[in-house]
Amino acid sequence: MKRELPDAASLPRPRYSGWACVWCGHSLMNVMGVPAGRAHGWIGAHDMSVEVFQCPPGVGCATGPDEAALEHPAEC
Ligand SMILES: [Zn+2]
Repeated sequence: MKRELPDAASLPRPRYSGWACVWCGHSLMNVMGVPAGRAHGWIGAHDMSVEVFQCPPGVGCATGPDEAALEHPAEC
């Protein structure tokens, strides 16, 4: 169940820089993000490809379906 990463050129700065989960935007400043792969994108001739990160288990969008429903009903 590998999701397609968003276009690197369209990522908000925190997600692009690995400060936030690439999927849900949860802050990864205080937790260890999990590598989510490499997002690709171009702005003109500039290759914007970058390694991006996602929530580790138990955080943000990486909580189980039941936990996520309880704690973040409207998020992710
Ligand atoms: Zn997340």
